[in-house]
Amino acid sequence: MSTRAFAPFVLGALVACSASPGKIPETPIAVAPPPEPDKKPVIIPSTPVPMSPIAVDEAALDKSVDPCDDFYAYACGGWKKATPIPDDRSSWTRSFSEIDERNEQRLKTTLEAYVAGKNAKDVDAKKLADFYGTCMDENGVEKAGLGPIAPALQIVDGIKDKKDVGPALAQLWSLGYGPLFGFGSGQDFGDATQVIGQLEQGGLGLPDRDYYFDKGAKADEIRTAYVEHVAAMLKLANRGDDAAAIMKFETALATASMVREERREPKKVYHKMNILAVDKLAPTLGFPAFFAKLGVGSAAPINVLQPKFVEGVEKALQKQPVEAWRAYLAWQLIHERAPTLPKAFVDESFRFTSTHLTGAKAQLPRWKRCISAVDHAIGESLGRSFVRDTFGEDGKKTTHDMVVEIEKAMQRNLETLPWMDAATRKKAQEKLAKIGNKIGYPDKFRDYSALSVGHVHASNALAADAFEFARQVAKIGKPLDRNEWYMTPHQVNAYYDANMNEMVFPAGILQAPFFDKRATLATNFGGIGMVMGHELTHGFDDEGRQFDGDGNLKDWWSKKVGGEFEKRAGCLVKQYDGYSPVKENDKPVYVKGKLTLGENLADLGGVKLAYAAFKETRKGQPDAALNGFTEDQQFFLGFAQGWCQNARPQMLVVRVKTDPHSPAEFRVNGPLVNVKEFASAFQCKPAAKMVKTDKNRCEIW
Ligand SMILES: [Zn+2]
Repeated sequence: MSTRAFAPFVLGALVACSASPGKIPETPIAVAPPPEPDKKPVIIPSTPVPMSPIAVDEAALDKSVDPCDDFYAYACGGWKKATPIPDDRSSWTRSFSEIDERNEQRLKTTLEAYVAGKNAKDVDAKKLADFYGTCMDENGVEKAGLGPIAPALQIVDGIKDKKDVGPALAQLWSLGYGPLFGFGSGQDFGDATQVIGQLEQGGLGLPDRDYYFDKGAKADEIRTAYVEHVAAMLKLANRGDDAAAIMKFETALATASMVREERREPKKVYHKMNILAVDKLAPTLGFPAFFAKLGVGSAAPINVLQPKFVEGVEKALQKQPVEAWRAYLAWQLIHERAPTLPKAFVDESFRFTSTHLTGAKAQLPRWKRCISAVDHAIGESLGRSFVRDTFGEDGKKTTHDMVVEIEKAMQRNLETLPWMDAATRKKAQEKLAKIGNKIGYPDKFRDYSALSVGHVHASNALAADAFEFARQVAKIGKPLDRNEWYMTPHQVNAYYDANMNEMVFPAGILQAPFFDKRATLATNFGGIGMVMGHELTHGFDDEGRQFDGDGNLKDWWSKKVGGEFEKRAGCLVKQYDGYSPVKENDKPVYVKGKLTLGENLADLGGVKLAYAAFKETRKGQPDAALNGFTEDQQFFLGFAQGWCQNARPQMLVVRVKTDPHSPAEFRVNGPLVNVKEFASAFQCKPAAKMVKTDKNRCEIW
């Protein structure tokens, strides 16, 4: 719910979309979506369930489109026409959004039962009930006003001299706030068995540094609107109008910030140093005292992801007047906690983001926002009941068996890949053999017993953030706990973690249309099989390939083979650079081929691995055509129909600028133009739009 960032790498997973290497969630929310009134949620009519087995959703098709011309439009056109985006959403996806909707309804039933005092024996039942109930109590939130954040604002107002900034920041961090930069813990890139401190750039109110510098009428409009929004929020908080100074301050931070494409490069964000070295980057801030106050040992190693940013903070300390520091920090606190504050703050935040960034027409109903808040605060306890009710041992086994098939497909692929040499092939095989899998939910759930929850929502949210921050800090300098999960069990998502060298599939995603017990094998392999292949390929994408089987950042490639990889990956960069899903100021906004490279590699590898695993599983058996679709056609449609999406133009623009994933239509057509078996399945002619020539085809894994 808040915008703060804890763990390192996990920045991507826990917060709004970040392009840090490592754990990147597959469906990041580009802009924190804080919505509102208890409008009845728009229920999307679910497609009628045909008699088993299930293969292609024919109602979703648009048969007027030639599949060889635009497969995404063919597979999803009918669905797109029939499925409006709910007012409270900026996009709606046939898989992720619909599963999310179901999961949220289940969690709501559970939480309401806890509030009513039922199932009181469940672990943390009372804590969950108190947190959710207090969040739902809008009168209570109004009554509390700004009270819960008043102590933090006092700390900020107590800054009289620049030397006060460091101690004030330490106090704020220990109370659960996270202004100015991201700080937490994470695995050491150089020694994946150890956890170290991680300090990352942050502190911006707009979705990306580029928003402070982009040219054009639209960019100017957003900046002007942002300054007005800052002023409006400060006015609500009865503070002076310092919006212009705050914008200037944030622009200085943005200047020192690393661009998104570079943040995906592990070597560019690995600068391990001791606290004295961190101190040298920004001597005025007093990092040694800052870390000491937070309980970080003086010998703790810290990875400063962007040293230039920390130097930028020092520059700001020199140049910006102390009044600007006070104004900026007060704004950041109000902005960060806005979702937990009275309605006027929530409404003003929504007004700005919906008008200029997301295009949503209404806020999410309060119960959904409160479920997100509970998820953020006590997520693993919330997930316990979910997996108990929805995910049995058979689900775990079926999923595991499919992952094994996908891994075997990768093994076969590695054996025959023509551009590999023997030494690199051997290392790649070793890495593959060491990839771990986590399926469903953690073996050991997190212990929240030391977190106390009271009856003021904003204070509860702060207490939970302070609790999590303390947990992060306590890990610094210690060996890694390999059992930890970076997503909660009910999340509709998955990740590959290069440092852990493991794939993680929470129970939340293991549902229709990705996975359905009643579906044909072809459809399931196209659905969840592709997701598994996607995660596996992340281990060998442009970032993942830089880590070895033990999760260490270590070059295991021969020079020649590394060059081959880059040449081949360059083919995809060029392909996606040419895609544009939306216009701004009447000009097409193009996908960033470099920013999205890792995901595009994973999408292409994912489809190919899932297809290979599917064919192997069905080897020697006659084609099980269903309703006129061959098995191969079912596979490719099962894949494509998982990505059917409608998105508002504003959101598409933000996504293209910030999201390492390509827009949905290119996540389907982008890989398939490179897959020969797709062309055969639909008997596409060589000159068709969905078919690349042998010479132009991108082939990596
Ligand atoms: Zn991915």
